[in-house]
Amino acid sequence: MDGYNESQKHAVMTHEFGHSLKLGHGPEIAVMDSCPACYNPNMSNNLQSWDINSYHSVWGS
Ligand SMILES: [Zn+2]
Repeated sequence: MDGYNESQKHAVMTHEFGHSLKLGHGPEIAVMDSCPACYNPNMSNNLQSWDINSYHSVWGS
């Protein structure tokens, strides 16, 4: 993760945590994008609505 800023590192950790919760990949706007730090260095490192909806679809509410 050399060259990633703190926000990108946080996004990657959130992404990997999502996988540990059985979440798959989502659209570019989501933390669960296939490569969250690659495309958008300024992306939010917080969960987006897609991520939350995906979590609910896997685990229920
Ligand atoms: Zn992934």
